[in-house]
Amino acid sequence: MAFQPGEGNAMEVDTIVAVATPPGRGALALLRLSGPGAFEVLARVAPELARPPSPRRAVLTSLVDPDDGALLDRGLVTCFPAPASYTGEDVAEVSVHGGPLLVAMVESALVSAGARSAEPGEFTRRAVLHGKLDLVRAEAVADLIDADSPALHRAALHQMEGGLSHRLAGLREEVLELEALVMHHVDFPDEDDPPVSVDRVVEGAREVESRLGRLLETAPEGELLREGAVAVLAGRPNAGKSSLYNALIGEERAIVTPVPGTTRDALEARVSLGGYPFRLVDTAGLREGAGDIERLGIEVARRYLAGADLVLLCLPVDEEWGPGEEAFLEERGDTGSIGAPVLLVRTCADRNPGPRDGADRSAPRREEPGSDRSDGGPRVGGALRVSVKTGEGLARLRETAAALVYQGLVTSRTDAPLLTRRRQREGVARAHAEVRAFSRALEMAIPAEAAVSHLKEAEGALEELLGVITTDDVLDRVFRRFCIGK
Ligand code: GDP
Repeated sequence: MAFQPGEGNAMEVDTIVAVATPPGRGALALLRLSGPGAFEVLARVAPELARPPSPRRAVLTSLVDPDDGALLDRGLVTCFPAPASYTGEDVAEVSVHGGPLLVAMVESALVSAGARSAEPGEFTRRAVLHGKLDLVRAEAVADLIDADSPALHRAALHQMEGGLSHRLAGLREEVLELEALVMHHVDFPDEDDPPVSVDRVVEGAREVESRLGRLLETAPEGELLREGAVAVLAGRPNAGKSSLYNALIGEERAIVTPVPGTTRDALEARVSLGGYPFRLVDTAGLREGAGDIERLGIEVARRYLAGADLVLLCLPVDEEWGPGEEAFLEERGDTGSIGAPVLLVRTCADRNPGPRDGADRSAPRREEPGSDRSDGGPRVGGALRVSVKTGEGLARLRETAAALVYQGLVTSRTDAPLLTRRRQREGVARAHAEVRAFSRALEMAIPAEAAVSHLKEAEGALEELLGVITTDDVLDRVFRRFCIGK
């Protein structure tokens, strides 16, 4: 009968269980079971349930401890028989009231009934193994869950819908076609007029190479979207850096983490500014150790500044532009250590009410005119007046920061697939290098039989990316950072 565990693999594959909702107290919590024994395990905890349970229909039922039959809760149970489920296995979802103790009791009841607690990402890993989604889409699921900015959310959703997968699968097809062309050529080596000219093969290879190259170019941006652009707050002591840091993260549910590796750690928070992800770094805590070396604390903050994608140079409106700021700007450019755009932020605007449009006309000597435009042009953004007391200029600061870092990048074209992970970048880079090596080999009149091994390598790289061929090692790396229950 349908209620029996799936044939054959019941011995090899166990049934896993996890709480899919976050820990803590809530109105509801969802537990998920997957595996050939899912419905059997469920039946021991939900004995009133019809056998077989109706597929994809939520049924209200009693949930009991299988050891003593004690009632734990009444909950909604939904069954998804294989293969029409997230994992491709028999899946059951159980929603219960969201009390932490209650949820733990239901989970342990399901374990007593024969399920095993899932590892992080194990549900999605099984989905990949059963061909329900490829590895790139699985990564997109993780990105979607982790997305803390609308821009990453958009990119992850597109990737989950298959944008990148289609592109990669298409490229793999093209490599296969090239291979077919070459093999055709190899099969008729002695014909005076071979059916496929070497030129045509080289031309085809060049096209694939440039397509791979264009995809590769999206990696810095994709990774920036996932990791967040580093925006460092710089400026003399009491310039208002910490206050600004708090104001910028205050309205966000920011994740604040100390940046390790310094005796006095800098603070870092993930925030979404103007819809784009940033890692805001406040180095204010570092300045005390710097003594008089540099009033702006450049020495101590240099490391952060060197890795910055944006610098917010803070100076109170009622203070003069000084040698510290001047020295700071010296650090910019090709010779200095700061390669990122610098936006001058005139803090404490409420102390000296000025123009209401947020632009500071009493700007310092070094300011470049019109540089508060948000077109990302000048590398020193002109003064933006902000006040954490009145909130003046904060919205404009967010938008300007986003524009300076992200404007002009591929993100604005939302339908373009992006490489968002190192694994993806490395895979595409490998394929790109191999296709290039293939054309070079042909041009150097290396026999096609030999050159074709490069195409096979390229194909392998793309297949590994998509998870067509995977090793446990690759899967471990991809799923290690998933949350439990996903
Ligand atoms: P940091 O040393 O650069 O981190 O500067 P702080 O954030 O600690 O600020 C220095 C002083 O300026 C504190 O007393 C703040 O309360 C004050 N301050 C910061 N921002 C503002 C502001 O927008 N308006 C006013 N009136 N005071 C501010």
